Amino acid sequence: MKKTAHKGLGLEKETCPDCFKVVGERSRYRLVCMLGMEQKGLSVTDIARKMSLRQPTITHHLRVLQSVNAVRVLQKGKEKIFSLNKAAHCFDECRIPYHA
Ligand SMILES: [Zn+2]
Repeated sequence: MKKTAHKGLGLEKETCPDCFKVVGERSRYRLVCMLGMEQKGLSVTDIARKMSLRQPTITHHLRVLQSVNAVRVLQKGKEKIFSLNKAAHCFDECRIPYHA
């Protein structure tokens, strides 16, 4: 991941573009917190039930999170299980809190 966004632009206190993708949207932030508390991971169906959101919306958020490597996917039978990649640089370097 490129780190340039953090340096030289006076943006040290701001979020980098990856962070923004992680938590720049309210329901995505809720999703990150939810996944952070769920050790075993969650399927899209689980998330839809917990968040009262439609599956396509959740799939979209998950895809955004995957694009910055913030979630891991595990194929379990027919289902995909999503869990938070706590090693993602935004949780570490940029210190995005992932528990409510
Ligand atoms: Zn970041």
